[in-house]
Amino acid sequence: MNDINHLREDFPILKRLIYGKPFVYLDNAATTQKPQVVLDKILEFYTTQNSNIHRGVHYLSEEATAAYESARETVRKFLNADDVSEIIFTHGTTDSINIIADSFGQAFINQGDEIIVTGMEHHSNFIPWQMLCKRKGAMLKVIPVDDNGTLVIDKLNELITQKTRLISLTYVSNVLGILNPVVEIVKTAHSFDIPVLIDGAQAVQHFPVDVKALDCDFFVFSGHKIFAETGIGILYGKQNWLEKLAPSRFGGGMVKKVEIEETSFADAPLKFEAGTSNFAGAVSLKAAIEYINNIGFSDIMAHEQDVFDYAVGKFKELEKITIYGNVSNRCGMLSFNLDKIHPYDAALIMDKTGVFVRTGTHCAEPLMKHFGIDGTIRASFALYNIRDDVDKLVESIKRVQKIMCAEI
Ligand code: PLP
Repeated sequence: MNDINHLREDFPILKRLIYGKPFVYLDNAATTQKPQVVLDKILEFYTTQNSNIHRGVHYLSEEATAAYESARETVRKFLNADDVSEIIFTHGTTDSINIIADSFGQAFINQGDEIIVTGMEHHSNFIPWQMLCKRKGAMLKVIPVDDNGTLVIDKLNELITQKTRLISLTYVSNVLGILNPVVEIVKTAHSFDIPVLIDGAQAVQHFPVDVKALDCDFFVFSGHKIFAETGIGILYGKQNWLEKLAPSRFGGGMVKKVEIEETSFADAPLKFEAGTSNFAGAVSLKAAIEYINNIGFSDIMAHEQDVFDYAVGKFKELEKITIYGNVSNRCGMLSFNLDKIHPYDAALIMDKTGVFVRTGTHCAEPLMKHFGIDGTIRASFALYNIRDDVDKLVESIKRVQKIMCAEI
């Protein structure tokens, strides 16, 4: 088992003092901090290898291309995909979903068709489908969420019709941390020949993902949520789907031949990577995945489970608090509200205590509407959070309650 306190040393930002004291970073679902090895890799790349990829025959360009393509292989292994051609570099989860909404939408969505999402999606996995449906005269259907925030999965069979063309859902809710039964959903969908896209933005940092075991057709995530740079993301697509899809963005680096009359496109993945890719971001993603692999998911999961269980236990001792998504199959975050205290007021005070959490709708307004609330306070954890962070979080919450409601 790795010494997690030692791992904290890997993240230079955690040594910073804010308001004259160490801070507690609990906004990891929004973005994670970066370990020194990733920062070093970015600096090394720019100081020794920087050059545009796939374009030049000179030494630097070949080295940069090799680094980029080696990052693709690292991601392939990380997701256990069959082939590197199934791994497309994008700018992030949002970008990946938009690419599929455009390309899949162009080829396979027609008037009267149906797309299914869930009531707990991040706007990134909701609006692209909503816009596509509006463009094509298709219908967006939603798997509802119950009072606990769990998907009402029995409804899926009712929602699926002969017109259902795609199901797109999140693996882990970015508000509740609830894990959805994606394997079961993929099985059901495939029994009707419906492809499934899984939004893995909140999954990949917490547990291993095997796209073959999931049997999903598309899987997307963002590098910045697993310790890599911002502006790099992944779109995994099964080869047979990527072959069928035409690109929706056009430019350099994605063609076989261009003539005045006609253009023919490169094969996947390059046909989906128009323009200069974030190649330095890809290198940082490789470094981040290697960092995770060196620690090992079994240690990461054991540690995160310990801190999460500790937090759940401590939250039980708190009064006048509502926790959303209070079910057993969840990870990574706790979303809550304090009685009679607006989440923004709470977070402003918590900030001054050096505890950094996120408040608001978390880009999941349909879910907020379902709960009848304006927003929540969300404390989200990463591998460098420890029990002491939970103690400080709880102290900070009590402080808010004391300041805002004298009677508590
Ligand atoms: N999907 C989920 C579940 C998320 O949590 C997020 C970000 O918080 C996104 C999509 C969007 O990710 P990005 O902004 O990196 O594209």
